[in-house]
Amino acid sequence: MSILFLADLAAEELAVWTQALRASLPGDDIVAWTGEPASAPAAEILAGVSVAVVANPPPGRLARLPALRLVQSAWAGVDALLADPALPAVPLARLVDPLLAADMAEAVLGHVLALHRQMPAYRAQQARGHWQPLAQPRMAERRVGVLGMGEMGQASAALLAQVGFDVVGWSRRPRAPLPGVAMASGADGLDHVLGAGQILINLLPLTPQTQGLLGAGAFARMPRGAGLVNAGRGGHVVVPDLIAALDAGQIGHAVLDVFTVEPLPAGDPLWQRADITITPHVAAPTDPHSAARAIAANIARWRAGEAPLGLVDRSTGY
Ligand code: NAP
Repeated sequence: MSILFLADLAAEELAVWTQALRASLPGDDIVAWTGEPASAPAAEILAGVSVAVVANPPPGRLARLPALRLVQSAWAGVDALLADPALPAVPLARLVDPLLAADMAEAVLGHVLALHRQMPAYRAQQARGHWQPLAQPRMAERRVGVLGMGEMGQASAALLAQVGFDVVGWSRRPRAPLPGVAMASGADGLDHVLGAGQILINLLPLTPQTQGLLGAGAFARMPRGAGLVNAGRGGHVVVPDLIAALDAGQIGHAVLDVFTVEPLPAGDPLWQRADITITPHVAAPTDPHSAARAIAANIARWRAGEAPLGLVDRSTGY
């Protein structure tokens, strides 16, 4: 059976992905359709495609597959896919790969430790040649809030708690607690997490409900001087509000891994700020090999009549 790999990626990345999908789906014919207009497969192949694996598909392309029955995203976030007005109304699965969640947890732990141990403040002191020990709380005295308790949030919260931080997680619906992690949900829960977390980690999906959530209102409710780590999507943060909160000392330091425009343009003023750490969307990059195995297992589930993992609810947008 033909599986369409619809991807707008650099040539080298495309080759790695195609090879990984072929290795994980040996019984299927993997047909790539890239950003290059000349790469379009023959019309009779497109007419028979029932499964498409997608990585940045050019808008409108999926609508050209009349037999399509499943769209499997190569990424964990599907906000860009859902923005395609021509996206067919077939089941859409986002990537669920435990290795991706483990990578995210590792990145989050690294940033939280750096903020907890006051590395930005010591870096600023070093730049001035200034020797000044700062009061240092223990991990158990540091409350870390995690927004979004899905695959990424749960793995990150669990690792932070395991290491010794005081962790509280926030999700839309109430969830059973993880060992060492307090849980909050709904509007009251958000108030609680914002008010309590001296370090706030954003791992929400970008939806109409979460767009711009991290703006002036949220920053005002956080403890003065709190740290922020945004590894969700750029659209969660209202950048002018963040800059105002940093200038006022309401936010002490922000780690930004994701931006509304990526790559972040060379002249963007965010680059120059000592109170912002910028990483180029690397918190948890998809590993084509482990992702291809997870995708193959998900397609097998779907073919066996089971619901695929990561099935997206179009009404909530994740
Ligand atoms: P997921 O499993 O779908 O989890 C989403 C979580 O967010 C769920 O706990 C959900 O609550 C919660 N949520 C959604 N809308 C909410 C709302 N309005 N209020 C409160 N909670 C809400 O997603 P995931 O796999 O963890 O991925 C999360 C996001 O991480 C992705 O969408 C992507 O943007 C980002 N990401 C970034 C990188 C990177 O390298 N920076 C890599 C991978 C993913 P319920 O549990 O109640 O449904």
